[in-house]
Amino acid sequence: MAGLVEVTRGVLVATHDFCTSTTTVVAADDGSCLLIDPGITPAELDLLAAELAHRGLHVAAGFATHPHWDHVLWARAFGDVPRFATARAVVAAATDRERGLALAAELAHGTDDDLFGRLVPLPDASPSVPWRGPRVNVIEHQAHAPGHAALHIVDAHVLVTGDMCSDIEIPLLDLDAADPLDDYHHALDLFDTLAASIAHVVPGHGHVGNGAALRNRLAADRRYLAEITAGRGDDDPRLTEDWLIRDHRAQRARVSATPALSRGRCRGRPSRPSEGCGR
Ligand SMILES: [Zn+2]
Repeated sequence: MAGLVEVTRGVLVATHDFCTSTTTVVAADDGSCLLIDPGITPAELDLLAAELAHRGLHVAAGFATHPHWDHVLWARAFGDVPRFATARAVVAAATDRERGLALAAELAHGTDDDLFGRLVPLPDASPSVPWRGPRVNVIEHQAHAPGHAALHIVDAHVLVTGDMCSDIEIPLLDLDAADPLDDYHHALDLFDTLAASIAHVVPGHGHVGNGAALRNRLAADRRYLAEITAGRGDDDPRLTEDWLIRDHRAQRARVSATPALSRGRCRGRPSRPSEGCGR
């Protein structure tokens, strides 16, 4: 794990080897912090806890952007604090717990099963994370996974996007959803409304970018969706790994096998769990 890097005042990001995963820390002036998607291996989690302590930070709350296994990990060293997620994500994490645990055991050996996925739902209709630190707005949508949330750290002008807006991954659709393309477009629409005010984007996998990078990634993701809708997309420059190519083919096949989907308004329901980086 690379150590924590300050993206802007009060926002730090660590990057892990597994799928270039990121963990984001939002620090408050009183020394408390919000820990977003801590990962990945037990050794990395302990190192992260030590680095937080070294910086005089204590964890006040956690947040899981979505229910996939590599976003719902935790270590005892972070403390027994609320770990928030959207209500839908909490349900999905519980439903998929056994599969998630199996992937964690395989890909992050030694994961603490007791702490895995112990999430609490945000209070009803909560527009922001309930903690005393800087305001962090919750942007819930259904792209990539049920109850996925991006987090907008308002005064820092940072958007933490979970498994979206990556420079190294194509859009990964939730193929279990009734209309994954429509869900994905809707989430991109939400990000579009914020993009002009964003100075830094932090993807769950990939590299931190500035506001221009966010706008470029939104455009690239729209382009990709249009391409697979037309039965193309093989030349997306982010298709560099075998698992991404496999997921891309599955997505294109799903779209072409369900013609109404390419119009963005189908309610069909084939099913395929996302794999690759184990997600
Ligand atoms: Zn994911």
